[in-house]
Amino acid sequence: MEKYHNIIEQMTNEEKASMGSGSDFWHTQPIPRLNIASIMMTDGPHGLRKQKGQGDHIGINQSHPSTCFPTAATIANSWDKELIKSMGEALAKECHNANVSVLLGPGINIKRSPLCGRNFEYFSEDPFLTGELASSFVFSIERNGIGTSLKHFAVNNQEYNRMVSNSIVDQRALREIYLSSFEKVVRQAKPSTVMAAYNKVNNVYCCENEFLLTDILRNEWGFEGAVISDWGATNDRMQSHIAGMDLEMPGNAKDNDKKIAKALDQGQLNPRIIDASISRMLSLIENHPTTGEPFSEEEHHQLARYIASQSFVLLKNDHLLPLTYTESILIVGDMAKNPRYQGSGSSLITPTKLPSLLDALDNEQIPYTYTPGVGQKDLRDETLLREALSLAKQAKVVVIMAGLPETYESEGFDREHLHMPDSHNELISKICEVNRNVVVIISAGSPVTMPWLPSAGAVLQTYLSGQAGSEAMLDIIFGRINPSGKLAESYPKDIKDTPCYTTFAQPGRNACYKESIFVGYRYYDTYNVEVLFPFGYGLSYTTFAYENIAVDGNFPDLSVSFDIRNTGSVAGSEIAQLYIHHRHPTIFKAERELKGFDKVYLDPSQSKKVTISLNARSFSYYNTEINDWIIENGKYEIQVGASLMDIRLKYTVSYDKNTTEIPVNCKKEFIEDYYHRQHPISIKDGTFTQLTGIPIPYAFKRKEEPFTVNSTITELSEVWIGRIFAFIAKKQAASVMPSSKNDEKIMKMVERGVMESPLRSLVSLSNGALPLRVIHWILKLANLF
Ligand code: BGC
Repeated sequence: MEKYHNIIEQMTNEEKASMGSGSDFWHTQPIPRLNIASIMMTDGPHGLRKQKGQGDHIGINQSHPSTCFPTAATIANSWDKELIKSMGEALAKECHNANVSVLLGPGINIKRSPLCGRNFEYFSEDPFLTGELASSFVFSIERNGIGTSLKHFAVNNQEYNRMVSNSIVDQRALREIYLSSFEKVVRQAKPSTVMAAYNKVNNVYCCENEFLLTDILRNEWGFEGAVISDWGATNDRMQSHIAGMDLEMPGNAKDNDKKIAKALDQGQLNPRIIDASISRMLSLIENHPTTGEPFSEEEHHQLARYIASQSFVLLKNDHLLPLTYTESILIVGDMAKNPRYQGSGSSLITPTKLPSLLDALDNEQIPYTYTPGVGQKDLRDETLLREALSLAKQAKVVVIMAGLPETYESEGFDREHLHMPDSHNELISKICEVNRNVVVIISAGSPVTMPWLPSAGAVLQTYLSGQAGSEAMLDIIFGRINPSGKLAESYPKDIKDTPCYTTFAQPGRNACYKESIFVGYRYYDTYNVEVLFPFGYGLSYTTFAYENIAVDGNFPDLSVSFDIRNTGSVAGSEIAQLYIHHRHPTIFKAERELKGFDKVYLDPSQSKKVTISLNARSFSYYNTEINDWIIENGKYEIQVGASLMDIRLKYTVSYDKNTTEIPVNCKKEFIEDYYHRQHPISIKDGTFTQLTGIPIPYAFKRKEEPFTVNSTITELSEVWIGRIFAFIAKKQAASVMPSSKNDEKIMKMVERGVMESPLRSLVSLSNGALPLRVIHWILKLANLF
């Protein structure tokens, strides 16, 4: 960028290099001599985690209070772009107030498995829905002068070994599933920054992946902002700059600054690469001044409440909800007192206030009786169980608060199964035996199994509903707001039913995406695997009719319209979904794919026309021979409905203009020969290699390879010096967070964080306490054995 030419010319090589890493955990490097300011970036995404003292990337140290909105997994169920914009506007205001220039989010990775520990902060298993909603989020924040950071780019779908895992994925799955939401947000909403993920994609670390960062992100999608590393993700900084990364975070890697300065001095690094990076950083800094203006905490709390109420999904209702205030209500469950309202890790927000369900009932003076039902730490407690059952026998209605405790899902580790604690399931089952009017309210950032489902009267999935979630729950259960959320992900019956069951988070570094494009509903629907609840599902207190489909325009630029009528007696919102189904594809393809949606509010008997636009991309697949999107010939059904499994209207269009050949590894037979409608999918490595074109790398073999800065502490622990180092590192990590010692979830994160980190990342993540020379010294010793 010419604009910054004069400033850059005045910089020494040391100053240039220093602009490529943060000045501390959260700030960019200032250069006062040249009037270059420093800006603050901080997590995100559903509130501000502006830390008070020492910085950390897993949410351990204290942060200033800010509004904790519902997490992405929650708001995704609203399918409401305007609603998400209102959240973005509020977040931008809080950023201005706290002088935070860049909010580190949204996280838009696809939910490949319901077990990913971080799914609570991702939107959906579907890239179209993710891309549309995240675009609104980014657009509204950026429009208000605050930067966003689209993360984690890319194919970052598990927490296990997150800093070193290698996602091996074929080009169709890469483009159609894992990149397309990023593509949409970059093109539509123009985020100021993109955060390169920890992992490798097809053998190359994201932070030094030229194919991702330059060929695709910048050259193909036209991204003009800055690429920053995830915290501690940089492997080889020089390689990162060459690949298109601009900023290494956090900033305690002065070793890398020195290396870059030296490379510039000695002519080993093209100065134009660094100058381009600095221009992007200067533009980021210049364009994101903050105003410090105050905001109304109460207004934001009420907004968080409204957003939550629009995002809850009513999964079952046997004429039980809504309740009336005068019924004798028994509330059961510890979560009614201690809400589970957000996830753990870098997105952990300190809320401005946090009324529990019991507080919310008290505030409204609604009568109730309460009993916890389960013991401390969600353990079964016979006395409490008996007490709950005896009270349940007398109550007219029982509302049970259950779900996933914090220790079950978090950044830093994956879930081990799909279940809620046994104590919760037993409590619900037993109470259902003694009372027919049981409402189960679930708080969980991802799908759970529900063995008691047939006997529960009503089930409301509230996900992680933020600081005002409890009040929003009352709005729904008492019918002040009609539930309208629909699931942004499928609920499998069993973990064994998930398409990546055999490949998700397997020991070692390779994550083989053998299911290819068959992620989430694309798999269940195509291979007729029964689910507990399908994608797009959700009930209301009213009913809707779909009528009069009409299609205008010239294929593929079509405008699909239809009417929705409220056929019930209360007002409510309906989310209409549009799927495309190819009748007889030659390529392997999902049975149908979401390509449009809209949410409309209707009074009783009211009808509204909904219009959804389609374009070439709505019908295309990614052709791996010509490396471009293309439409296969044939008949396409446009299906409109209330959920994936509740299609109400159909319209068929045809296309026959395509003359491009279909590559062998895109053909249906190719997949079917091997997938063979087998369940769970199990493909031999050789076949998978034919699909991806990339050999699966061998696992690290100690006897054949030396340890390097990229070895994890788990790997290093094969030798005694490594085990001693692991012991000290864990002790050291735990000692810097004395207040968290009794927190099981934090200790689990720390343990995993330490053991699964490559040695190089400890230098920056330890705030410089562990210098690189000590790591080299340990490696020298370890390699002697
Ligand atoms: C997370 C990012 C986060 C960063 C800073 C990392 O561990 O993966 O999402 O923005 O820390 O806290």
